[in-house]
Amino acid sequence: MKAFAYTTAKGEPRIGVETPEGKFNFSQIWRYYIEYKSFKQAPDLPFLQLMVELDYFSDETLVEVIETVKGFRPLKDLRLENDFVVQVPVSRPSKIICLGRNYAAHAKEWKSQVPDKPMFFAKLPSSLLPHRGVVEIPAGIGRVDHELELAVVMGRKARRVTEDKAMDYVAGYTIANDVTAREMQIQDIKTGKPWTLSKGMDTFCPMGPCLLPADAVPDPHNLEMELKVNGETRQKANSGDMVFKIPTLISHISRCITLEPGDIICTGTPEGTLPIAAGDVIEATIEGIGTLVNTVQEIPALL
Ligand code: MG
Repeated sequence: MKAFAYTTAKGEPRIGVETPEGKFNFSQIWRYYIEYKSFKQAPDLPFLQLMVELDYFSDETLVEVIETVKGFRPLKDLRLENDFVVQVPVSRPSKIICLGRNYAAHAKEWKSQVPDKPMFFAKLPSSLLPHRGVVEIPAGIGRVDHELELAVVMGRKARRVTEDKAMDYVAGYTIANDVTAREMQIQDIKTGKPWTLSKGMDTFCPMGPCLLPADAVPDPHNLEMELKVNGETRQKANSGDMVFKIPTLISHISRCITLEPGDIICTGTPEGTLPIAAGDVIEATIEGIGTLVNTVQEIPALL
């Protein structure tokens, strides 16, 4: 069962769930559940990130809570409020760690090799943008590309985790678009500078629309992925094509950096990364998760 973060028309945060019967206000369902179970210490859950941080986020829990509440309360009374706005599933991760060249065909299209070991860089949490948000490209910065990626959301604190235990630390999966100011990045590479600005600009990390619990995904390395711009397919691949798989990534990162619940790993992009421009509509789809839709706008040039 998929969950998503949203705000009401008044800006109040909530968790939503998508079931075969429709979309419902899970924050309210949770309140009925803890009341019914007399869980006096259980907290309110207005934020999906909080549910992840408290290690409550799983398909098993979502199903159990909804099925219990359905027993004494009709779900139709718990529909989403009108005019809700979808937010980033995990809006304040302590970090977003990304992979460079983790799909062989993508490395090749840039006349590059797959590295011997996973190649990491970071994207800034301030670059996150929700489903339906607008990617803002400052005028005159040159080519900017889309990069469709499977994003892993951590559910437990991970430090020095071995590959065989790594998947126990994953809360779920969502879709990321690692938007990249390509000309700036190429210039930085040539001059030996880091990529912080070209990858970390405001709005350059669209993410969502929802979070699919890890226990609802039989194999995260067998998900069809497709990105379209204005209805035309640009990227099409399977997550199984990634070179360094998720357990390897978690193990490698956590050797050096503690991964906190809510932290995000963007697992790299397949081939077909191409420019985006003002007016474009980007649809990024991953099997089982859904479609992340964003538009593009030009904003005034950098000062
Ligand atoms: Mg990328």
